[in-house]
Amino acid sequence: MIEVSGLVKRYGSVTAIEGVTFSVGSGEVFGLLGPNGAGKTTTMRIICCVIPPDAGSVVVAGVDALRDPSRAKQSIGYLPEVPSVYSRLTVRENLEFFARLYGVPGGEAEPRVSRLLRFFSLEERADQLASRLSKGLRQRLAIARALVHDPPVLLLDEPTSGLDPISAREVRDLVVRVAREEGKTVLLSTHNLFEAEQVCDRVAIIRRTILAVGRPRELAERASIRVPVRVALANPSEGLVRVALSVQGVTSAKLESGELVAELEGDPDSVVPELSAALVAAGAKILSIRRTSSLEEAFISVVRGGPRVRSRSVGGGGRGPDVNTGTAEMSGEGVVRA
Ligand code: ATP
Repeated sequence: MIEVSGLVKRYGSVTAIEGVTFSVGSGEVFGLLGPNGAGKTTTMRIICCVIPPDAGSVVVAGVDALRDPSRAKQSIGYLPEVPSVYSRLTVRENLEFFARLYGVPGGEAEPRVSRLLRFFSLEERADQLASRLSKGLRQRLAIARALVHDPPVLLLDEPTSGLDPISAREVRDLVVRVAREEGKTVLLSTHNLFEAEQVCDRVAIIRRTILAVGRPRELAERASIRVPVRVALANPSEGLVRVALSVQGVTSAKLESGELVAELEGDPDSVVPELSAALVAAGAKILSIRRTSSLEEAFISVVRGGPRVRSRSVGGGGRGPDVNTGTAEMSGEGVVRA
């Protein structure tokens, strides 16, 4: 549904993106994942014909978006980084207005608006002014607005940015439903690794160019990363360290301030249950188990140019972010914050 090839965009002396190439299949949720300034918005804006590239090609739903932007735009719904809805119109009026703007025929507009109000759980708010909506509801309205002309492709630029955790989760759930239930192809940009892991079928790690593409779990496997796991124990002992080391997939284990710190190779979702079962069988009293996401580790590895990711689409490299483990959220110069 989306084919992007060799995109280059320069702003004066700044090369925002260089050789960006990827494709998104029908019905897929595809994430562009990268720190601030990585070129996510630039790539999105080129795909939806807001700005032209200096080189490269974009084909959306079979239409050359650079040659025929008007026709390509009919296939695209776009939620910009700073979405606009009209504050002085009601929720319903906003959707009706944009339906007219997109040329949705009169007879189709009303049922489409009603359907969107229902799908986005905005029916009760339909007659409320947009200015009275919470940020989370306004974002839902903005996504509904992007779908008002029923495009097969939806582009979402950081759709959960600035939302509280509950609203962010609602928007994520809606994004997945839009793809699964409505069959839309979704390209979303995010710097939130948790979000990418939860929502995306595949992700492209971008930093001016595409560094790696794959399913979140695949990326971790290809990077051969070692995922650190911290097991807090009420009864830490060297015996439990030996038990941990005997578990397949555990490459190292040691005690650190009453915690057993193990490094895992392979899929942590299969190794962690094995590890905890072995420890409990050996008499361990486990207080908690913490681990970072495998996508987070893969991301760090890829942007740092660490262990090679065997990727179908690898280029670039460069200095990566500093790291604190924990909730995966990047900001500033690509710092992953706890
Ligand atoms: P963010 O997560 O902060 O939105 P991003 O990944 O979307 O970042 P872009 O906004 O595409 O990144 O920016 C890529 C690079 O291009 C950055 O270095 C940015 O400063 C630069 N840039 C973007 N837009 C312009 C512009 N209009 N004029 C000059 N430089 C720009």
